[in-house]
Order: sequence, then C-alpha cells, then structure tokens
Amino acid sequence: MTAAMDRDARGSTPAVVPLEITRACCDAMIAHCRAESPLECCGLLGGRPPRASSFHPLPNVAPQGETRYEADPVAVIEAVRSLRDEGMEILAIYHSHPRWEAVPSRTDLETNYWGEMPRIIVSLLADPPEIRIWRLDPKSFEELPWRLVP
Ligand SMILES: [Zn+2]
Repeated sequence: MTAAMDRDARGSTPAVVPLEITRACCDAMIAHCRAESPLECCGLLGGRPPRASSFHPLPNVAPQGETRYEADPVAVIEAVRSLRDEGMEILAIYHSHPRWEAVPSRTDLETNYWGEMPRIIVSLLADPPEIRIWRLDPKSFEELPWRLVP
C-alpha cells in the first residue's frame, strides 16, 4: 500500500489520490532520461504524499541497458535513507523508454520488483517526452492519475 492510495471510511472502494510531481522533479527526471538515452535509466521520486518533491537518479546496472533497467541496490538503500532523514518516503519509481511508448513492456510486468509502487514511464519518442504512471501486476497494469505542480 502506498501513500498515493487512500481508502474511504468503509475501507471498500479505493479512491486514487493523484500523485503530484513538482516541476523541478519532472524536469530533472526528463533531463536524466535524455542524458542516458539510448540506454534506459531509472530513479526514484520521494516526498510527503501525495507530493513528489525529491529527485534521486539511480545507476542502471542491467547488462542490457538498451532494453532493461535494474537499479543499483546500494544506491536505492542510500536514497531511501536520505529520504527518511528528511521525513520523506518513496512515492514512485521511474524509468525511461528511449524508443518505445510510455506503457509497460512485457519485461516491466515480468520483472516487477517493486510491487504496488507507482511506476513512472518516460517515453522519449515524443518531444516533450510523454510521462505516464502505472501500477503493475504480474499479468496486467492500471494507469494512475498524476499532475504537475509548481
Ligand atoms: Zn519499461
């Protein structure tokens, strides 16, 4: 369960609170994706829910970096620790699709190490890049709402 989710008083119908991404975070994420292209890149956004205000690029240690990404686990731990020191938490994981649209690939579904964590995909096919956010299951995916904030 992530902070982007909220449940009503009866605990039945989940109401999705849109993730808010600050302009600075969004710009930094896009710059990272462009700098690493044609390799995929990844990182995480943190903050106090629902606002993602803290940007953490992560080294992609996947051997086939053009079509895969795998965050360096040590860098993940360091990012989580630094967020915790600021009273923040991970709100979303992002990765880029340098040459594909911003929808989850089969690999994204099959190698979902992050459970229900919202997954941002930045597609560089378009300019400006397209950004969409998903929740992944092993066999399906669901788009999540988000909005840009100052
Ligand atoms: Zn992907």
